[in-house]
Amino acid sequence: MSDSVDVAIVGGGIIGLACACRARQAGLSVTLLERERTGEGTSHVAAGMLAPVAEVEFGEAGRRVLDLGLRSAGMWPQFGAELEARTGLAVGLRRTGTLVVARDEDEARELERQLVFRESLGLRAERLLPSAARELEPALTPTIRLALHAPEDHSVDPRLVLEALRQACELEGVAVREHTPVASVEQDGERITGVVLESGERIDAGQVVLAAGAWTSELGLPAEASIPVRPVKGQILRLGDPTGPGLLTKVVRFHGGYLVPRGDGRYVLGATVEERGHDMHPTAGGVYELLRDAHELVPGIEELRIEELSVGLRPSTPDNTPVIGPGGLEGLVWATGHHRNGILLAPLTAELVTSTLTGTMVLS
Ligand SMILES: Cc1cc2nc3c(=O)[nH]c(=O)nc-3n(C[C@H](O)[C@H](O)[C@H](O)COP(=O)(O)OP(=O)(O)OC[C@H]3O[C@@H](n4cnc5c(N)ncnc54)[C@H](O)[C@@H]3O)c2cc1C
Repeated sequence: MSDSVDVAIVGGGIIGLACACRARQAGLSVTLLERERTGEGTSHVAAGMLAPVAEVEFGEAGRRVLDLGLRSAGMWPQFGAELEARTGLAVGLRRTGTLVVARDEDEARELERQLVFRESLGLRAERLLPSAARELEPALTPTIRLALHAPEDHSVDPRLVLEALRQACELEGVAVREHTPVASVEQDGERITGVVLESGERIDAGQVVLAAGAWTSELGLPAEASIPVRPVKGQILRLGDPTGPGLLTKVVRFHGGYLVPRGDGRYVLGATVEERGHDMHPTAGGVYELLRDAHELVPGIEELRIEELSVGLRPSTPDNTPVIGPGGLEGLVWATGHHRNGILLAPLTAELVTSTLTGTMVLS
C-alpha cells in the first residue's frame, strides 16, 4: 500500500507536533508518524522551563542557543494563547520569573561571574542579596549567599501543551498515526522520496521532517545527511504538597537542579544530566542527589509527597545546539537536537521548519 503527502514528520514529541500543526496551517498535507503514542517521549518528562536567561552558557554554542531561546520565549505567549483558543485546553503558562540561588561562597562567586556575563549580553538579570531573595521566596533557607533574578524566564506545563498540540493537529487535519514506527527514510539519488514503516508500508512524501528526538540517529540515513544525536539522560521527580500551593512561587534554580512550581501545590524537581546512552533506569543515586540539593535550599520540600519519578533522554548534538532546517538531501528537514531546551524552542522550531517546507526560509 502506498500513500502520498506533502510532508511526513517522524516523531510525535513537542517538536514533531508543533511542526505538524504549523505546516498544516500553511496549507501542506501532513502525516505525523509516531512509533508509540504522541507526547510520551522526552517531552512528557520535561519540567517546562522557558528559561533562556537562566540557561545561557559561555561560548559560541551558548550564544546561538541564547539567540534561539530569546526569540522562542518571545513567541510563547502568542503560541500558548493560540493553542488555548483553538482547543479550549489550558497550557499552563506561568509568568513567574526565575531565581538562581547560590548556597555557598564558591557558588556565590560563580553567580557574580554569571551576572557580569548576562549584563555583557544586555540580558535582564538582577543581583539579589539573600534578604531580598527570601522576601520573594520565604521558603529559601536563611543560609543562601546570593541570588540572581531573571524576571522574564517563565514556565509552562509540557503535558498540557502536548495534549493541546495533539488536539490542534487533529483539528487542523494532520493525519496522526500512532504505533507506527518508521524504519527508514527513502531516497532516490540526492532526493528524499518518503519513508518506509517497520510494517513494510511505504509513504511517499515530498519532504520528510526528522523529529525523532534522541532516536533520530537510528533512522539509518547516509553519512552525508546524518547528524549525530546522542541521548543525555535526565532523572526528574514530581512532588505534591498536600496542603496546597504556596511553598514556592517562582522557578528556583541551583547548582545541579531546579524546582518548578505548577501553582497548584505540585512541583517538579529536576534533573540529573548523565551520559548513559539509552539507559532509562532511575537510580537511587540520582534521586538522592536531587533531593539532597533541593532540601539544602528549600527545607520545606521534606513535607512534599513523591508523586512520580521519571527518566527522559535529551536529544543532543555534539555541541548541544539544535539542528533545525534543511538537511543534507533534497527534501530532508531536520528538527532535532534540542537538548535541554525543546519545550522553550518549540514555537520557533515550528516556524523555521514551516518556512523551510514552504520555501520561505529566511535564516540568520
Ligand atoms: C529531565 C528533563 C527535563 C527537561 N526540562 C526541560 C525544560 O524545563 N525546558 C525545556 O525547554 N526543555 C527541557 N527538557 C528538554 C526537552 O524535554 C527536549 O528537548 C524535548 O522534549 C525534545 O522534544 P522532541 O519532540 O525532539 O523529542 P521527544 O519528545 O522524545 O519526541 C520524539 C518522538 O519520536 C518518536 N520516535 C522515535 N523514533 C521513532 C521512529 N523510528 N518512528 C516513529 N517515531 C519515532 C518517539 O517515540 C518520541 O515520541 C528536559 C529534558 C529532560 C530529560
